[in-house]
Amino acid sequence: MSRKPFYLLPLLALPLQAGAATPAQTLSEVASALGAESLQSIQFSGAGSDYALGQFGHAGEAWPKFIDKSYQRVVSFAPWATELQRTRLQGENPPRGGGGQPIFGEQQQTQSVTAESPSAISLQSELAVTLPQAFIKAAQQASDLKAEEQHAGGKHYTVLSFTAPNKARTRGWVNAQHQIERVETQIDNPVYGDVNYEAQFSGYRDFGGVQFPGHIVQKAGGYPVLELNVSEVKLNVPAQIKASVPPTPVLASEPLGKDVWLISGGYAAVAVGFKDHVLIIEGGQNDQRSEAVIAEAKRLFPGKKIGALVNTHAHFDHAGGLRNYVAEGATIITHESNVPYFQKVWANPHRLAPDRLALHPRPAKFRAVKDELLLSDGEHSVQLFRLQDFGHNDGTLVAYLPNEKVLVEADAFNPPASPLTQTPASISPFQQSLVANIEARKLVVERIVPIHLPADNRKIAYTELLTAVGRIDSKAQLSLTETK
Ligand SMILES: [Zn+2]
Repeated sequence: MSRKPFYLLPLLALPLQAGAATPAQTLSEVASALGAESLQSIQFSGAGSDYALGQFGHAGEAWPKFIDKSYQRVVSFAPWATELQRTRLQGENPPRGGGGQPIFGEQQQTQSVTAESPSAISLQSELAVTLPQAFIKAAQQASDLKAEEQHAGGKHYTVLSFTAPNKARTRGWVNAQHQIERVETQIDNPVYGDVNYEAQFSGYRDFGGVQFPGHIVQKAGGYPVLELNVSEVKLNVPAQIKASVPPTPVLASEPLGKDVWLISGGYAAVAVGFKDHVLIIEGGQNDQRSEAVIAEAKRLFPGKKIGALVNTHAHFDHAGGLRNYVAEGATIITHESNVPYFQKVWANPHRLAPDRLALHPRPAKFRAVKDELLLSDGEHSVQLFRLQDFGHNDGTLVAYLPNEKVLVEADAFNPPASPLTQTPASISPFQQSLVANIEARKLVVERIVPIHLPADNRKIAYTELLTAVGRIDSKAQLSLTETK
């Protein structure tokens, strides 16, 4: 091997030399080289893999993989908006982790973000780590563009940096050919705090008059979220992107038994009024949802403190509201494998969007569950147990309420929008696992309360789960329904 040059120090920063290009001049040269000057919109397509952030099989593992048989993204720069259309295939075999697993056959997905979307604030940061032209457009709109010279890996770079609308300092490494090789930024996440995002753009070539990377690798929190081989780029395509903003569900409470309430209007939460405190089962979704559930529980049980919160599993959509319960002083009850993970990620900075716990820090109190835990005050009982052989996430708890014959579960059975009247052609191993766990423990279940409530808000009878896994036929279930 040849001797390494002396300047091969990692990211050695040097001040700009006298007479060197100003940051704006450098940016202008990059915009010219990458064809961004007259760009109003761009569409790129290809194939590769995506990975579902926060949907690991075990807390702290890499994000689970999906095959993107096709991937097409339209990006508009005026106004900022994007639409993604992709065809996904199962990437983990056997299925392990969340994000819509298991996929049987092909899954078509369309996702769009516009100025009206809840995530609009971080759109420029997200796009800056997706395609270099978005980095350029965002940098052009920033008021604090800076440049510095760096040597890294034996190459010379000009590092352009600016503050994006979500307050994240965003950096792009420009090489001697005025190509952006690497971009770093941050995006807020309610569980993880300020998540580091980075992109590697390589294999630049001419796509119909514009220099575009042939290969894009994007990471979030240290693990890949996108690997794309680009096959086609189109410039200034008509981009009529509509926001897919779902209607806000209305908060409502339904009694499940004495001092037991189902709080709907988002991810389901169940509030149990023990003698000296309120227990909430699931603090999912986000801070907004947990604020609403906490307020509703206080209304239902005046004068009682929120003493404890049961977390079903550590997936980000099910842990999104947990920090609010820590701020409330509640003990977090979760599987023992999740405790060190929450302790680690909750220590991350929340500088981009400080939440209640970041503004008023206090240590989290945990109660770790190994295989089972009975919570009871003699009158009310909640039995927690860990799902065995559950590929969705191996640190998952379900809650059984023996008095009410209700089972509260997350992601083992997400019922479809309308009642299941026959067994689907392909049966989810996660649903089979749930039934096996219920039977192994000889639980008498009449009703399932899925954390992901069905779109029609119907009550889910246990028989619907049995139909889903082919344990009773549709005629049997229909007759059960009719005789009620
Ligand atoms: Zn999950």
